[in-house]
Amino acid sequence: MEAVASPRGSGGGNLGATVRPMPPAPSPPLHPARGRFAPSPTGLLHIGSARTALAAWLAARSRGGSFVLRIEDLDAPRCRPGATGAILRDLAWLGIDWDEGPDVGGPAGPYVQSLRMDVYHAAMGTLARGGHLFACSCSRKDVRGAASAPHGPEGPVYPGTCRERRIAEWRGAPPRGTSVRFRAEGQVHLVDWVQGRRTADTAGMGDFVVWRADGVPAYQLAVVVDDAAQGVGEVWRGADLLDSTARQVAIFRALGAAIPRYGHVPLVLGPDGQRLAKRHGAISLAELREAGADPRRIVLALATSLGLPAPGGPCAPTDLLPLWDPSRINTDPSEVALGGTGPGGSPAASPAP
Ligand code: GLU
Repeated sequence: MEAVASPRGSGGGNLGATVRPMPPAPSPPLHPARGRFAPSPTGLLHIGSARTALAAWLAARSRGGSFVLRIEDLDAPRCRPGATGAILRDLAWLGIDWDEGPDVGGPAGPYVQSLRMDVYHAAMGTLARGGHLFACSCSRKDVRGAASAPHGPEGPVYPGTCRERRIAEWRGAPPRGTSVRFRAEGQVHLVDWVQGRRTADTAGMGDFVVWRADGVPAYQLAVVVDDAAQGVGEVWRGADLLDSTARQVAIFRALGAAIPRYGHVPLVLGPDGQRLAKRHGAISLAELREAGADPRRIVLALATSLGLPAPGGPCAPTDLLPLWDPSRINTDPSEVALGGTGPGGSPAASPAP
């Protein structure tokens, strides 16, 4: 995978007053197949996320890689109390294990993003020194309303209003109301296990936020910093995050960090062909378990929906290890047939009225 050459700049702002200490260099065991699952604790683990976790686990374990569980809880208003514990319990029920995570610790911890602020500050220092950052006071409304703002697939593209307010040195988060953006320039090429070759013009996507105006590191920054610091060699996740990948590759390059290999699995559909949602009935593992579902039947349904060869019946994730083949993964959204996941193949739960 290649990525854009980084811009270099000078000058800049003098934001905030706190100088953060550099954290100790992390030393995760490096392995190209080291994988991770990084859920946000915003609710119960649903069947789509479980399928992504299974793919990530199989990709890592089938090649002897270790597996990291990281909780992405930086968007505090969206997080639900108890969700982290429930996610860990549901993954374990399915038969997915991890070597490092919030409950077991490990050499590249902590494994909860809200406990990793020093690491994000240190990364912002590197990006600032490289000339990649600028302070931005534009509101969403400003960006939407800018006469020159072109529209991309994800909405209005940042028009570059504050681009020259470079931050040469990171001295802590800017005052509330000011965000920090990354100067997006050039093209990114990547090869995805599922989606194939892709080229993205990051400049066309616009300069993007890496530190939010409410004082929180943005997802794009935190996910890259953690995948790099935790030595993740392969990232499997939902295709809804595919458009973020080019931005993340640009950050990896700017940090001088190794870029993982990506695999983006398509969305899970309901029986009506629409994106799987609550109205389709029980879609969380917790609901399915309470309805008497057999985890081995769920694993079979998830594997079949991914496109893996059928293992011949209900199975544990470990039974799928010899069958893992990234080239088999469905490129189109597909259904997970939950109808027969109850005991003896009976329905585990009735559809929502
Ligand atoms: N935390 C993100 C989510 O739950 C996933 C991030 C990622 O896998 O890169 O949607």
